[in-house]
Amino acid sequence: MTAATPPYALTVATSDSGGGAGIQADLKTMTRLGAYGGSVVVAATAQNTRSVTETHVLPTDAIRAQFDAVADDFDVRAVKVGMLAAEPAVDAVADCLAAFDCPVVLDPVLVSTAGDVLLDPDAIDAYDRLFDRSTVVTPNADEAETLTGHRPTDPSGRDAAAGWFLDAGADAVLLKGGHVDRGDGTVRDYLVTDDGTHAFAHDHLDAVPTHGSGCTLSSAIAARLAHGDALPAAVERATDFTHATLRDAADVGANGSVNHLAS
Ligand code: PLP
Repeated sequence: MTAATPPYALTVATSDSGGGAGIQADLKTMTRLGAYGGSVVVAATAQNTRSVTETHVLPTDAIRAQFDAVADDFDVRAVKVGMLAAEPAVDAVADCLAAFDCPVVLDPVLVSTAGDVLLDPDAIDAYDRLFDRSTVVTPNADEAETLTGHRPTDPSGRDAAAGWFLDAGADAVLLKGGHVDRGDGTVRDYLVTDDGTHAFAHDHLDAVPTHGSGCTLSSAIAARLAHGDALPAAVERATDFTHATLRDAADVGANGSVNHLAS
């Protein structure tokens, strides 16, 4: 066979019927970044750019069977874990990740920008096993505060929140600044590892649709890790990519989404 062999990246996440976030955003992102994207579907939302109206979680047998099928056939180079919805799914994903010896990007999705609850609050404790397996965790400020009790919007809050994730077993944490008003026209994302901190700065974009931006960023990191980038390089490429998809946001539905056609 003379076919190309793109690196295989896997998203373990939830479907967004509107196409802006979730598995749909992940697969579009992975494709744009030259990775071959596969998916383990954990749940399906009935959703558009206004709200999530229903969430249906798959039985854990169905989640495990998808992992087995992927592991049986593909050389998975990176995994992105997104919205998991409920505790049995979190436990099944933690079990199944043991079979994969590759980087894991964990987006701890709790609540949507529009305010929909995306993880049953009872499932938060089950995340401990996932932190332990993560190459990088990518919380926004609200998620970091809910999980760690520290708001990462000033240097001491960032140090405390980052320390919490590293103590929980993650190799690194990317504290996202997209929802933080710094008052200086910039957005800063901070990647914290045991070796130190890297800051990534972009212009703040006013009044753009952000639906799907967190999914896009975490799957872009996974796609670049699948290509073999070191983590800081992967995060730099992924933040640039996400900024471009926000800058050229798509006017779809009532509220728009990040634009996966933008270059
Ligand atoms: N729906 C699904 C399936 C998601 O995975 C996410 C975020 O990860 C969302 C909705 C929320 O997206 P946003 O907060 O960008 O609107």
